[in-house]
Amino acid sequence: MIILKTPEEIKKLRTANLIVARALAKLKKMIEAGITTLELDSVAEKAVRAEGARPSFKGYKGFPSALCASVNHEVVHGIPSKRKLKDGDIVKLDLGSEYEGYYGDSAVSVAVGEVSDRALRLMETTRESLYKGIEQARAGNHLSDISHAVGSFVESRGFSVVQDYVGHGIGRAPHEDPQIPNFGPPGRGPLLKEGMVLAIEPMVNCGTHRVELLDDNWTVVTKDRELSAHFEHSIAITENGPEVLSELDG
Ligand code: MG
Ligand code: MG
Repeated sequence: MIILKTPEEIKKLRTANLIVARALAKLKKMIEAGITTLELDSVAEKAVRAEGARPSFKGYKGFPSALCASVNHEVVHGIPSKRKLKDGDIVKLDLGSEYEGYYGDSAVSVAVGEVSDRALRLMETTRESLYKGIEQARAGNHLSDISHAVGSFVESRGFSVVQDYVGHGIGRAPHEDPQIPNFGPPGRGPLLKEGMVLAIEPMVNCGTHRVELLDDNWTVVTKDRELSAHFEHSIAITENGPEVLSELDG
């Protein structure tokens, strides 16, 4: 069941998501060769707590950290470690918060120093595909119009979309209905309505779409160990169309 949110609830969700957005903006500025993903995790946790929120990933199903930090061929759910980032890496930062019972969730991919043209194109395509999806998040459209907009754009650029992990509704729980695949035909699934709040999150690979889980039971990697990128925004469907909740002005 898809839970519709009132304007007051959307306001709380905006607050939770802006806390995530500010933390991610801070982390992005710190990305350079030599920093560890554990240091980033510590800054992320402090930034979220400083705003009176709780890092929602920490302890979720036993996840040990505030931040998911996934490097290069790691797709999502990477556990922060003493590993140092190096020039040419791409790192995916995924962060969640809970503020007064409402959840925020957003992710970005960031280049470390100079990265390959392919990596840049992958990241840019993924970011752009997210906005293609957001553009379809309007009352009266079908859910899979979002999926199709993301997937068809990614494929037109010669990359592949991860199928085993998907976007989701978000509200008083970090994951709610509906699941939002990033591929498939348009015009299917539930009709979108005002008051729906969705976390749209394309995960895009350079090579095969296939992924596998590492022995730590968290880190998802590409099967062929080629690069992967990830961007995520939480958005609300309003009478004026989609409103991105996890984006800072300017
Ligand atoms: Mg996320
Ligand atoms: Mg999410």
